[in-house]
Amino acid sequence: MVDIKSLPDNPYLLLTPGPLSTTKSVKATMLRDWCTWDDDYKNLVQEVREKLVRLGTDKTDRYTCVLMQGSGTFSVESIISTAVPESGKLLVLPNGAYGDRIVQIAKTAKINCVFNDSGELEPPDLEKLDATLKEDRAITHVAVVHSETTTGMLNPIEKIGKIVKKYGKIFIVDAMSSFGGIPMNIEALDCDFIVSSANKCIQGVPGFGFILGKKEVLMKCKGQARSLSLDLYDQWNTMENDKGKWRYTSPTHVVRAFYQALKELEEEGGIARRAERYRANHRTLVDGMRKLGFRTLLPDAYQGHFITSFYSPESGKYDFKTFYDMLKTKGFVIYPGKVSKASAFRIGNIGDVYPADMERLVKAIESSMFWND
Ligand SMILES: *Cc1c(COP(=O)(O)O)cnc(C)c1O
Repeated sequence: MVDIKSLPDNPYLLLTPGPLSTTKSVKATMLRDWCTWDDDYKNLVQEVREKLVRLGTDKTDRYTCVLMQGSGTFSVESIISTAVPESGKLLVLPNGAYGDRIVQIAKTAKINCVFNDSGELEPPDLEKLDATLKEDRAITHVAVVHSETTTGMLNPIEKIGKIVKKYGKIFIVDAMSSFGGIPMNIEALDCDFIVSSANKCIQGVPGFGFILGKKEVLMKCKGQARSLSLDLYDQWNTMENDKGKWRYTSPTHVVRAFYQALKELEEEGGIARRAERYRANHRTLVDGMRKLGFRTLLPDAYQGHFITSFYSPESGKYDFKTFYDMLKTKGFVIYPGKVSKASAFRIGNIGDVYPADMERLVKAIESSMFWND
């Protein structure tokens, strides 16, 4: 085992929505090789799958977990292009780039798809959702993003789920940037499929995503996939029958690191405690930034604690790149804005990051406000 303290420090903290700052102990686990079909590795995979199901629900017999190679988008594409049958129709509720991406995935897969776009600064319109499901009986599936990373908005998936289930539709949630960072009971949500990835709130390194899904719903998806490598049913079938075997080369080191990250999540006290830390990061950041005169893009009522968007300073002397570079030399990497109608930048509150880091960041920002000089 390596001496973890001897590992080099990162030159800067990643205050981004993933990949994010991970612990040295997570990174250190990657210093050995694994055989993909050996039991040592397959048992690790099975344990990861079981632990993930337990993070989402107590009803572990009703739900299952599939791991999928690639970044988070591969997993979203995998579930969308596997779950919706040829005769099905998907309704997406986008309010940002990641919701738009689900629509794009559906179009690429030639899935019959409609969407209710509420705009980047508003949550999905619940009345409109109800009306759409009442009118369009052809819709079979509804997909929404939980924490829309474009703005930092936390969409009301409980309320959305209730309406979706009132009409008996399959409910798919992209909880990429929220799963593991906020208590979530997928059974109570009656969620059919929820997607996340290794490098977000579980604090692993990038390389695979995962889908938690209702077994009985997934079992009906055989033969529906529009892609071979992203066939979620087939991936699940192999993992299930071959007890932890992935269909194609699996990101072994990443999975081992993820296993360690899950252990560290438990050591921290579980999801509720991690959520408290992220919330404290967010509060420290927003309070400090408001004192410096920055305004948040979203009203507090819509804001999640995962990533925060701030309006760019109005001064003509401000430019993001200079600001970014100054903060980077001070040890912090922030994130550009993504909203189309406003100039903004974003700061992530997740990862191996603590309120004290946020206090240091606010000080670094205070001394980087070159546009006021
Ligand atoms: C990170 C993220 C994804 C996946 O993005 P990748 O770059 O493919 O990992 C999808 N949805 C949301 C909301 C995200 O934050």
